[in-house]
Amino acid sequence: MAEPAKKLAKIVINERLCKGCSICIDFCPTNVLELKGSCVAVKDLEACTRCQLCDLRCPDFAIQVF
Ligand code: SF4
Ligand code: SF4
Repeated sequence: MAEPAKKLAKIVINERLCKGCSICIDFCPTNVLELKGSCVAVKDLEACTRCQLCDLRCPDFAIQVF
């Protein structure tokens, strides 16, 4: 029988608030995030464990994980 599909995290980035400081990228233990220009972007959603470190560490409330 097939494995049930893994429920993926929902990562919401507010591009107007993000200043591209990379704090969230540095704190993410599984390398989910990357910098694209001056804003953070999701590189590997499947790797996200929903630990919410990025959400908690962002000084500008620009990233939220559900
Ligand atoms: S919730 Fe955790 S694993 Fe997911 S992107 Fe944020 S820091 Fe990385
Ligand atoms: S910590 Fe916040 S402001 Fe800094 S890159 Fe991440 S989302 Fe953007």
